[in-house]
Amino acid sequence: MAKFSCLKCGVCCANIRQKIESDDSDFIKANLFGNSPIVQLVSVEDMSLPIWPWEAEILRKKAEELKVKADIKPFRTVFDINKNKSLILSYFMDHDSCPFLKENQCIVYNHRPLVCRQFPIQTIGLEKSPVFAKCPALDNTSFVNKEEINDFFGESYHSAVKNDSIIEWQNKKIIELIKNKIIRPVKSYPYNFLLKRVENSEKVDFTDFLVEENISAEREIEKIIK
Ligand code: SF4
Ligand code: SF4
Repeated sequence: MAKFSCLKCGVCCANIRQKIESDDSDFIKANLFGNSPIVQLVSVEDMSLPIWPWEAEILRKKAEELKVKADIKPFRTVFDINKNKSLILSYFMDHDSCPFLKENQCIVYNHRPLVCRQFPIQTIGLEKSPVFAKCPALDNTSFVNKEEINDFFGESYHSAVKNDSIIEWQNKKIIELIKNKIIRPVKSYPYNFLLKRVENSEKVDFTDFLVEENISAEREIEKIIK
């Protein structure tokens, strides 16, 4: 089977607002706007590429160094009502077109987040089917199994597996924090009220919180994110 060959059309980087599958969009709307511990802070229509806190930190530094105006904002959080703290799970770039795209080239290529490295794979679906983003280089391509996908995409496939594993790890940690009563996320709150509470709360990156609370050692987190 031929290998994936990017046509360098730049469409993906020039349109980073998510055009997600309608099933996923329904799931997000039903669950992440005040009905579960994870709260999405931006509408489905405005969301763009999700980036991890450690990636957001790198991109902020690169933006400063390269004098690029990058609006990097919290994307999803868990709000702990006991400590009035928002644990930021991920960030997003609040732009239609990626601010790091210049003359159809990524100017932070070696520092680009996992979500870019795995494109056009949206998720490899560790326990379900893979989902792909729209990409002209994928037209008329189909796969029989994950081995074929791995073979076709190479590095992008590994990035997608990594990203899926981080999500899984993060979800397990949230459950552990709740079960052990370390946090008490609000449930079934009116969304607008919840947004105000998040806005007025102390904000901390989820991974930093895990280290602060001695839930995970820095070494464990390094292993997950590297
Ligand atoms: S949309 Fe597909 S072909 Fe175009 S730049 Fe992105 S990955 Fe490459
Ligand atoms: S960081 Fe680079 S690869 Fe990712 S969307 Fe921006 S320009 Fe594209």
